Amino acid sequence: MDNPKIEKKLEKISCPICAGNSFKHLFEKAGEPFVQCHNCELTLINPRPSLSDITAGYDASYSAGYTKKATKKKRRASHRVKRLKKEYKISGRWLDVGCSAGFVVEAAVCNGFQAFGVDIEKAGIEYGQKTLHLENLAEGTLSEQDYPSAHFHAISAYDVLEHVPDLNNFLKELKRILHPKGVLDLGTPDIGHWRVPKILSHWNELKPSEHLYYFNKGTLNQLLDKNELRIDKVRWSIKPSLKVTITHQ
Ligand SMILES: [Zn+2]
Repeated sequence: MDNPKIEKKLEKISCPICAGNSFKHLFEKAGEPFVQCHNCELTLINPRPSLSDITAGYDASYSAGYTKKATKKKRRASHRVKRLKKEYKISGRWLDVGCSAGFVVEAAVCNGFQAFGVDIEKAGIEYGQKTLHLENLAEGTLSEQDYPSAHFHAISAYDVLEHVPDLNNFLKELKRILHPKGVLDLGTPDIGHWRVPKILSHWNELKPSEHLYYFNKGTLNQLLDKNELRIDKVRWSIKPSLKVTITHQ
């Protein structure tokens, strides 16, 4: 019988943390293998879809989902900006990476920051420009923006890290543009959280082609250490997500 499933072209990578090539197979979802590095214990999709297939997934429907529940998202963005501003006594320039429609950028502007946003997904940027009247939103990858070094006093990246194909390049760029006394606020699903189902394949954060990596505090620490960054604080979270503030080492 013919298999109606379209075969995806998958590519194999070395572990982005330890450069190892030995992985334990965990399970498969939507034809994509979830594995764990034998050395550093990072969980990831490997082999994974090619870069063009991954970015093609970020279409308008993804952003349309984001712009729903705008009131709730605005409130959350405002809370995040106020908390970071108070905790670290920061002012100046704020960059939100993976800004989508720009709710965090809007909240940062309201809190006195000169705020910028970047996202690879066009529809979100257009929504932010037209509906929220935000001027400093850019479409594309972070490195394409070529921001000046040591430029931003605060950088946020919520639910972004798990999507980024080249983690080390991404963190290197964040470190370069972060002010020496700056702070990076980051959130990503936490595979080490007590509420992650015992049968891992049942976890709703497992998203083939979207969430490429699944960190816990230990693996995130190793990745940051390799890129000369450090976790300053871990915030408690009722949901399985790792919420950390990061500074230069
Ligand atoms: Zn590894």
